[in-house]
Amino acid sequence: MTGGTIEHSAAAAPLIHPGADPLARLRADPLARLRADARRRDADGLRRTLSPRGGDHDGLIDLASNDYLGLCRDPRLAAGAVAAVREYGTGATGSRLVTGTTDLHAELDRRLAAFTGTGAGLVFSSGYLANLGAVAALGGPDVLVISDRTNHASIVDACRLSRSRVVITPHRDVTAVERALAERGEPHALVVTDAVFSVDGDVAPLAALHRAARAHGALLVIDEAHALGVVGDGGRGAAHAAGIAGEPDVVLTLTLSKALASQGGAVLGAPEVVETLVDASRAFIFDTGLNPAAAGAALAALDVLAAEPDLPGRARDRARRIAALTAGSGLTTTPDPAAAVVPVVLGAPEDALHARDLCRKNGLKVGCFRPPSVPAGRSCLRLTARATLDEAELTVLGGALEMIARSTGRSLHT
Ligand code: PMP
Repeated sequence: MTGGTIEHSAAAAPLIHPGADPLARLRADPLARLRADARRRDADGLRRTLSPRGGDHDGLIDLASNDYLGLCRDPRLAAGAVAAVREYGTGATGSRLVTGTTDLHAELDRRLAAFTGTGAGLVFSSGYLANLGAVAALGGPDVLVISDRTNHASIVDACRLSRSRVVITPHRDVTAVERALAERGEPHALVVTDAVFSVDGDVAPLAALHRAARAHGALLVIDEAHALGVVGDGGRGAAHAAGIAGEPDVVLTLTLSKALASQGGAVLGAPEVVETLVDASRAFIFDTGLNPAAAGAALAALDVLAAEPDLPGRARDRARRIAALTAGSGLTTTPDPAAAVVPVVLGAPEDALHARDLCRKNGLKVGCFRPPSVPAGRSCLRLTARATLDEAELTVLGGALEMIARSTGRSLHT
């Protein structure tokens, strides 16, 4: 292994003797196709590596994680997790319908619904599964699903699982959504969107999407993954900020793993939605319940948000500062980020890799996104703001962004 990339032996022995038949040759070494694909990804600059981080500190300034409120090492969350383990054990011990619903899970179901202003809640073991669970259980052959082109991969996969006809609409295009709703043959429809898009950090037109959904008798499913804890009053999310969180035709999905610095996910909405998921969501029924430690940490994070309602505003402020530094260097970004995600669009995958390496040399850890995570030509750095990011750290970032701009010929300050 080097840097997390698995080295393959070029001379792996065939598992069966190939003979002369070309089909038999292909079948003789089932890993040969994978090695050839990996070589192609290498040539295109699309190979991915894992970089394990140290326990306490790797000395780098974190602009890559989704720990938007800086709570991941907060002693209050650690105490919540430890108390949960002592009381309920190290594992959930079963699916939520059997032994995996502790008092903490039931409390978290209720507290998440109350916090976001929705009717009822159901905790899943990840945000990914919350999306699979919601869209697959609420979809079906008599339900049209309409999904924004840049929705998160978990929504894309959820659409595939839904057994629905799926219409993919251009990014943030309410007119296209309305047209698909009006022209549908199916009696039912779901409109599905990220609240804050995970790479570009822009926000969906939620109020307009809700008007369209309501006018055509559809449910609106909003993924609050990057909005919960960051957007809206006290971090109650984008649907709450748009005034639609408690509407009966709105369903929220979320993750506990970003601003809440824990792990897990949830679906929130009308009691009928939650009842349907309990009875029919395969991602809920056949998965082990959320680890009690994660439930305890998430509940503690909700307590912190109640005690410090200005934390989300600080994360948003740092995001605006990062965007201003990026634009001030001559690099392309979202001008006025509403959440904590700030892209630095560089175009070619090599440019994004070069920029990421330059950041690392300057003591900054940043996300680097290349196809297929982003469309071709949109490779970028993904910088994430943290409420605890200080002036000295922002100054280091400003210096690195200037260097990136100069080295890619985009600098405003030559
Ligand atoms: N939705 C969005 C928009 C996300 O960015 C993510 C995580 N990257 C998820 C869902 C999945 O959440 P989790 O990591 O809790 O599975």
